[in-house]
Amino acid sequence: MKHGVLDQWQRPLRDLRLSVTDRCNFRCRYCMPAEIFGPDYPFLSSDSILTFEEMERLTAIFVALGVQKVRITGGEPLLRKDLPELVARIHQMDGVEDIAITTNGSMLKHQAQDLVRAGLKRVTVSLDSLNDERFRELNGNRGKVKRVLEGIQAAADAGLKVKINMVVQKGKNEQDILPMAKYFKERQHILRFIEYMDVGNSNGWKMEEVVTKKEILETIHAVMPLKAVDPNYVGEVATRYQYVDDEQEIGIISSVTDSFCANCSRARVSAEGKLYTCLFATNGFDLRECLRSSDDDAVVKQKIFDVWNHRVDRYSDDRANNRARKKSKVEMSHIGG
Ligand code: SAM
Ligand code: SF4
Ligand code: SF4
Repeated sequence: MKHGVLDQWQRPLRDLRLSVTDRCNFRCRYCMPAEIFGPDYPFLSSDSILTFEEMERLTAIFVALGVQKVRITGGEPLLRKDLPELVARIHQMDGVEDIAITTNGSMLKHQAQDLVRAGLKRVTVSLDSLNDERFRELNGNRGKVKRVLEGIQAAADAGLKVKINMVVQKGKNEQDILPMAKYFKERQHILRFIEYMDVGNSNGWKMEEVVTKKEILETIHAVMPLKAVDPNYVGEVATRYQYVDDEQEIGIISSVTDSFCANCSRARVSAEGKLYTCLFATNGFDLRECLRSSDDDAVVKQKIFDVWNHRVDRYSDDRANNRARKKSKVEMSHIGG
């Protein structure tokens, strides 16, 4: 490969997930349970997180190593002040083919237009239920369905392509699969169902609480028949389906029951500049020190090259084979999913 880097399983580095904050206004139980992420939780200090200049520089270095797609995430990325400025910096960068944001949508209504003006084309909004009581139960009593739906509408009105992420948990919101499917089918937004994952160390994950891809498919197919669709590209995380009657699309992200490590080309950088080569990694590699101590991009590039080149991660494949070791893992709110 002329430009770029392959890991030990010959996987290229193609996607960058950039976390801009580890803070969030929600306390979703599967991600930041309130009893752990309470008032005394040691969130990152503002001088420890990367500036937009540093993120721009870092992104350009990742692009030189093969990255084509950038997703801005968090914590809740819309909490980061002046986020459209970062979007604009990345949008105008040569080599970036796609830039997207993943957000809980609660602050999207007032930011959608500025984000579009900055060059954003796509947004993914997380929403686990249309039932307010259940939604509040899931998000730690912080967010209302109405606010998120208004955010989704504002994003669509501003011209953004909107996808919805729904994490499905047994005993919590599996009754919301069909209402969500119908609602977003009518509005022609792609809804993606995510199997509940054992990310981080604090959500008390149990396999029995996972609603599997098969169960999700059967639930929808029984009422609104579906057909499988080919992936858009190698390494796409969601398996795609279309409704037979109108060809509106849905996706299922089955990290637990049908893992996709073989094509995983995603690098994650936390807000304080640590590089994680897997969602389930224990440790990150510090890039901030490198960025702040040297003006020479080649030094930073070499460090990223070496880390990716040594990468052997395939946690979900190992979990499926019961080989995953129990060890401390990075929190999802730190690297943004
Ligand atoms: N705060 C933003 C949001 O919620 O969209 C961005 C960060 S959030 C960590 C990114 C995605 O990870 C969300 O769609 C969320 O639902 C998903 N997520 C968090 N914890 C999860 C878990 N344990 N299993 C599956 N998905 C999870
Ligand atoms: Fe916040 Fe997103 Fe995690 Fe929910 S999933 S607590 S909205 S970071
Ligand atoms: Fe990629 Fe790690 Fe997820 Fe496998 S478990 S798909 S290597 S992030």
